Amino acid sequence: MDFLKDRSLLHTDGYINGAWSAAASGKTFAVTNPATGAHIADVADMNDSDTRRAIEAANAAFPAWRKKTAKERGAILRKWFDLIIANGEDLAQLMTAEQGKPLTESRGEVVYSASFVEWFAEEAKRVYGDTVPTHKADARLVVVREPIGVVAAITPWNFPLGMITRKCAPALAAGCPVVVKPAEDTPLSALALVELAERAGFPAGVFNVVTCSKPHAIAVGGELTSNPIVRKVSFTGSTPVGKLLMAQCATTVKKVSLELGGNAPFIVFNDADLDAAVVGAMASKYRNAGQTCVCANRIMVQSGVYDAFAAKLAEAVAKLKVGNGIGDGVNQGPLINAAAIDKVERLVNDATSKGAKAIIGGKRHELGGQFFEPTILTGVTRDMACFAEEIFGPVAPLFRFETEEEAIQMANDTPFGLAAYFYARDIGRVWRVAEGLEYGMVGINEGLISNEVAPFGGVKESGLGREGSKYGMDDFTELKYLCMGGL
Ligand code: ADP
Repeated sequence: MDFLKDRSLLHTDGYINGAWSAAASGKTFAVTNPATGAHIADVADMNDSDTRRAIEAANAAFPAWRKKTAKERGAILRKWFDLIIANGEDLAQLMTAEQGKPLTESRGEVVYSASFVEWFAEEAKRVYGDTVPTHKADARLVVVREPIGVVAAITPWNFPLGMITRKCAPALAAGCPVVVKPAEDTPLSALALVELAERAGFPAGVFNVVTCSKPHAIAVGGELTSNPIVRKVSFTGSTPVGKLLMAQCATTVKKVSLELGGNAPFIVFNDADLDAAVVGAMASKYRNAGQTCVCANRIMVQSGVYDAFAAKLAEAVAKLKVGNGIGDGVNQGPLINAAAIDKVERLVNDATSKGAKAIIGGKRHELGGQFFEPTILTGVTRDMACFAEEIFGPVAPLFRFETEEEAIQMANDTPFGLAAYFYARDIGRVWRVAEGLEYGMVGINEGLISNEVAPFGGVKESGLGREGSKYGMDDFTELKYLCMGGL
């Protein structure tokens, strides 16, 4: 941890009711650097009893927090934003150490994560209601929005800061206390974020973090989804876990937001600007070593430009520098863990065994460990596993198609519907394809689409609800209708 300018950002205990807390059991779990395998820290391995304590603390803090004016809550959020930016370099270094992404991407994520805090500090003041034209002369009808109550946020490792602020900032702005369970691979970033939240002045109990290992996630998640005090669960992660949590929430009828897996098509039409499409594909596919839920998963290229696009993409991919994320000029780090690299290897081997060709990469990187070569596969067909499965690695499979109808049909041939991308210039085609894609977000001649001002979320089995934007607070509020009669 010598790289931290401010060592007080490093915490290994959870945070409950305004105090750093070890697990009741005294147990810890190890956090390691995915680039080197080096041990970084031992973090509190909390369980259901710790989680109950956090939920009860949040519940106790709720009345006072919701009573504050939106401006007061917004001011604390704004201070938190300023502290995140001021401590950005330490946060980035910590993230690269435990998550592996290149430092430039970690720095980008600090700004991205802070942008949600700034945005919702402002949006706190705009939680408007309605007056409804009355149905009878002696009554007046008013609709107000109220904070939903205690919120549980369960977050993944691929954006260790962004996924927390995207959920917690709107919840806190709306007047809800939160209990966060960060991913076991990246708890240190979450704890640093809470250190800054404490400095920003959130009252005790308003912001709690329960850290735990993968085995304990079942008990912690079980408590968060079954405890009747929790009124809302917001989850980002894998589809199977999301479905499980949704089922568990049914017993107490909690509101649920889910950001689950994607299987993003990235479609390049004959009339596309190929150079722009290559830039978009590089950003969408290889960012975070391909480990984002909006990463291009199936690159579909129309016959007329298939070979030209493949050649241009290979030229760009050849320039990627793989290595430890703290290294100079590195733009692809390691995969998060051994299971991740096994999966990527399996998908590549499946494709090549069925006739696909790796025109660049195709195997584990000579650096060893969890590094995989940036890879492009050509001649990929629908019977290969990477058509249906999320790769979550630096592998671009290139599918060939002939017609616009075929591209739309292929793109929609999945239970997922998070992000889609396409490159075309014909204005009629742009509208037809944009409307034909069954996805929550569509990048048109654009490979990077996530920001705080636009609604992020998916359809079909990719999830429920939207994060960010003016819609992002809806999930943390309930409508209350007041009917005043006898006037
Ligand atoms: P990934 O495969 O990307 O790690 P997961 O869905 O397993 O995705 O993890 C996302 C988050 O969900 C992590 O914080 C993880 O600890 C948590 N998680 C995993 N299994 C459960 C579970 N049964 N209950 C609650 N949370 C879980």
